[in-house]
Formats: sequence, C-alpha cells, structure tokens
Amino acid sequence: YGDPSQKIDYVFKLVLIGDSGVGKSQILSRYARNEFSLDSKATIGVEFQTRTLVMDHKSVKAQIWDTAGQERAVTSAYYRGAVGAMLVYDVSRRQTFDHIPRWLEELRNHADKNIVIILVGNKSDLEDQRAISTEDAKGFAEKEGLFFLETSALNAVNVESAFSTVLTEIFNFVN
Ligand code: GDP
Ligand code: MG
Repeated sequence: YGDPSQKIDYVFKLVLIGDSGVGKSQILSRYARNEFSLDSKATIGVEFQTRTLVMDHKSVKAQIWDTAGQERAVTSAYYRGAVGAMLVYDVSRRQTFDHIPRWLEELRNHADKNIVIILVGNKSDLEDQRAISTEDAKGFAEKEGLFFLETSALNAVNVESAFSTVLTEIFNFVN
C-alpha cells in the first residue's frame, strides 16, 4: 500500500452521478479513505480519488470521479474513458429516485456503451424516512439491466460491495 514502485496492471475510471445531496462524496470518502462527514460541504470542481486493490494477482487502480458540487454542469469530459458508473439516489428523497432515468439517459448519451452501471440507493440507515421501497428500485434496475444495492456511507454498509460489484464485472470483462 502506498509503495510508489508498485506496478499497476489496470486503471479503471469510475464516475459517480446523481442529484446533489444524495451522498456521492461521502460514498467516495468512505471507500477511498474510510471517512465520513455529516456536514460535508459541496466542493467545487471535478475531482477524483483512487484506491488500489489486488484482483486475481493483478493490481487494479480504481480512479473514482466525483462531480464535486457541479451536478448541473457535468460535461462529456467527465464520462470520457469511464468503464464504470455509480448512479446514486437517496432512499429518503423520492425526487432523487425520480431523476434516475434522466441520469441514465445522460450516461447512455455520453459514456461508452459497455460501461458497467450500478444503481445505488444511499442512506439506507434512514429507514424511518424511507420514500423508495427496495422492491421498486430493484424492479427498475432489473428492467434497465443495472446492478443494484442499497448503501449507507454513514454506517459503512454495502459501500465496499457496491464498488467491488462494478470492479469485478469490469475486471472479468477485460480478462
Ligand atoms: P453529494 O452532494 O451527492 O456529494 O452528497 P454528500 O456526500 O455531500 O452528502 C450530502 C449530505 O448527506 C451530507 O450531509 C452527508 O453527511 C449526508 N449523507 C451522505 N451519506 C449518508 C448516509 O449514508 N446516511 C445519512 N444519514 N446521511 C448521509
Ligand atoms: Mg458531492
């Protein structure tokens, strides 16, 4: 870990998309640094974080891009070269789920046609405020051919699994 001489076999670019406030930055922070902040303020400008992992004796660098508060101004450059995407909504806010088809269309217009996509319902810890049932989201994901998981960046639930689902699928595709 952190060894600069480490040989990297693959770099996989992943993008996080979805409405502002759904928890994209906290999902990334949980995955890349195992950190969470309850009062995360929107950072300005596109940025990415990386995490290097070993898959089948190969080192894979996941380079994960975050819209960083620029959700309205995501451009095609953001999607360029992306092999995976995490489409995030907030299980406690109906509107963020209703916007998923728009994000999906944007993705299909700008990204590679083989991009691996996972639909992620974040903030699963807010069970008492749930506005979207697991079944509805799962049904939508199946219809659209997307992977699906509910996560909590706050409680570190399924964040690892969500990324590893996407990374494993990509890895198997290139191997
Ligand atoms: P982004 O705009 O999509 O990047 O969303 P942020 O990551 O900035 O998160 C927006 C707000 O939701 C912040 O106050 C976070 O602390 C909070 N948040 C993010 N993930 C979770 C989660 O899993 N559970 C709960 N309860 N709050 C979360
Ligand atoms: Mg953000």
